[in-house]
Amino acid sequence: MIKKAILILMVVGLMMGCSQVESSEFEEDEIVEEAQVEIVEEVDKGQAQEENQLDDPVDPREAIDLSLEPNESGRIMVLMYHNIGEEEEEWTRTPDNFTKDLQVLYEKGYRPISLKDYASGNITTPQGYTPIVITFDDGNKNNFEYMEDGSLNPDSAVGLLMDFHKKNPDFSPAATFFLTGDIPFGQRELIGQKFEFLLNKGMDIGNHSKTHANFTQASAELLQREIGEQAQYLESFIEAEGYKVNTIALPYGTRPKDESKTSYLKEGTYDGVPYDNIAILNVGWNPGYSPYDERFNPESIPRIRASEMKVDNVGMYNYLEYFDNNPDQRFISDGNPDIITVPDDRAEQIGSQQDREIYIYDKK
Ligand SMILES: [Zn+2]
Repeated sequence: MIKKAILILMVVGLMMGCSQVESSEFEEDEIVEEAQVEIVEEVDKGQAQEENQLDDPVDPREAIDLSLEPNESGRIMVLMYHNIGEEEEEWTRTPDNFTKDLQVLYEKGYRPISLKDYASGNITTPQGYTPIVITFDDGNKNNFEYMEDGSLNPDSAVGLLMDFHKKNPDFSPAATFFLTGDIPFGQRELIGQKFEFLLNKGMDIGNHSKTHANFTQASAELLQREIGEQAQYLESFIEAEGYKVNTIALPYGTRPKDESKTSYLKEGTYDGVPYDNIAILNVGWNPGYSPYDERFNPESIPRIRASEMKVDNVGMYNYLEYFDNNPDQRFISDGNPDIITVPDDRAEQIGSQQDREIYIYDKK
């Protein structure tokens, strides 16, 4: 067998000429060398892995799938709801329409995060998906109601969010409820029980002022009472250690005309107890900036009306269509809250004052 192979090689060599035989021998040498290099590299990798297991973890950037085109400079929508009710109205969504909203968001790759996480830039959304923030204003009973038999009203906002989450476990019920007045959710004796339920499910309690005051002409004293007293009141029902009611949706979206008073929206003191809001929400009609964008201002976060009535082409469905047509404007998570991943053509949007690692990649 070997003799036959040599014979064939000699015949081929004679037919092809000597110079070509020499070059093919040279190639064979190269192949041998390459094979040796491969073995050496494998040994190196093995050593590196062992070292990594002992010291540093593997570079977390390697877990980021760039084919999903992460873009953490993109926009994030903060949706504004008010009521859930049997009849669709300007500020009321029917249970069916609210569930439709959640279904559309789900199918288009949006996943809820908490407002607190958005404000602080802690984006835990799985990679390839877009974070969204869901908010409800006023704390009406139709947002969260227990029936006489103690069951959760399935057609309340909380009931519908929990039901959707049950059917789609990767769609968190995280929503923030901005509460005004003495009897949030309309059932005085159940306030504490409801707050405990919300916090246990990753939902949040936010401030919507004590009397739903118009802040346009408000004095420093009034602002601190409206905000500080309400925060203390709501916190008095919360047993969870350290939980702060430190987000606010401005009633009617109003701010003091006198700009020297604006700082009281964020910080102030009532009855000797200070407050410090980490997010101040407007009524608004734009998607919010990425929390890593230089223009992001947690003291003035716009919201989008989640309605199909009188939305003047700037409602939730208008923006869903906008992002479908302009996918490069949409925030796409890299799945790692500690790394900010952006394509190179969007890198300049990212603010320089970041305490997170910035990962810029070449968008082909
Ligand atoms: Zn309101």
